[in-house]
Amino acid sequence: MSPVVLQVEYVGDLAPYPREEEALAVAGAMLKAVRCKDADELVEAATGADVIWLEWTPHLTGDVLRRLPRLGLAIRWGVGYEQIDVATATELGIAVANAPSYCTEDVAEHAMALMLAVSRQVVFRDRQGQAGLWRSGRARHQRMRGSTLGVIGLGRIGRRVAELGAAFGARVLGYDVVDMGGSVNQVGLEELLAKSDFVSIHVPLSEATRHLINAETLALFKQDAVLVNTSRGGVIDQAALVDALKRGRLRGAGLDVFEQEPLPAENPLRGLDSVILTPHEAANSPQSLADLRREVCATTVEWLNTGWAPNVVNPSVRDRLRGRQW
Ligand code: NAD
Repeated sequence: MSPVVLQVEYVGDLAPYPREEEALAVAGAMLKAVRCKDADELVEAATGADVIWLEWTPHLTGDVLRRLPRLGLAIRWGVGYEQIDVATATELGIAVANAPSYCTEDVAEHAMALMLAVSRQVVFRDRQGQAGLWRSGRARHQRMRGSTLGVIGLGRIGRRVAELGAAFGARVLGYDVVDMGGSVNQVGLEELLAKSDFVSIHVPLSEATRHLINAETLALFKQDAVLVNTSRGGVIDQAALVDALKRGRLRGAGLDVFEQEPLPAENPLRGLDSVILTPHEAANSPQSLADLRREVCATTVEWLNTGWAPNVVNPSVRDRLRGRQW
């Protein structure tokens, strides 16, 4: 029996998949696309699947994974993989992978765009320009050259933001749990927040990073700092951020990600002049989409051919991988 690769949910929008089907066929596998609205539908559709490609939902919770005895590899169609219970997958011998680098440039550029747009009031001034208001209110634009940029999370995207910030003439400080060996001047979180004019967040969402930015840490920010988040909404306590913005405690915020997505109609972030909201679009470009498809496909083919792939995010599963069933 040929191995089956099952793609779930939005990725179905990208169909047809001639390149993926061709590459999988060479590896002796077939591609099946489904759209599941809940866990039960997913389990039913995925019972015979060896590999799952998942965009957002239904999440691969421990309960769902336990009901899929054939599954060997789950790939998140993106960078973050908090939708997959990695601990349970590891316990069950299921490898979990992501697409780690397809959108590094895009998200870094988007973070820069948000920093500049907030600090130079691009959207607010556009509304004035469109309404025919001429030089209304004194501009308080913040110049990036000579300012301090604090980057939280010095992985692929954070390091690229650090490079771009340095190219704009900012002094860059970084914070990460891992010692990055001097490529960026690494400091503690409190020092970074106290010294930065721009703060850009690039950590994954985890129990350690949930509400990393909260009422207490917001109180450490410089008056007039710009906060940008293109990582995950849950890293910021949104209620505390709204409170800080309403009190004029920050210059403004540029947000691509939110605690609840899509952003609900009544969300208090809407309508604040000091905030720019983009609907989780940072990663998107035709180039990144092409790279995403290539990365997911290459990982799958490598795993089918060799039983392993370099971007498995739970490498400790290697000693206990499930036997392949084809
Ligand atoms: P990465 O894995 O290369 O880097 C993440 C960095 O965060 C690592 O250096 C890691 O050591 C650090 N980190 C982890 N936990 C930490 C903690 N508790 N405190 C401080 N640092 C910590 O990931 P990346 O490619 O740079 O992406 C970063 C995040 O951006 C992803 O996890 C994803 O959630 C998000 N993302 C969003 C979009 C979007 O469309 N807005 C697109 C891609 C990625």
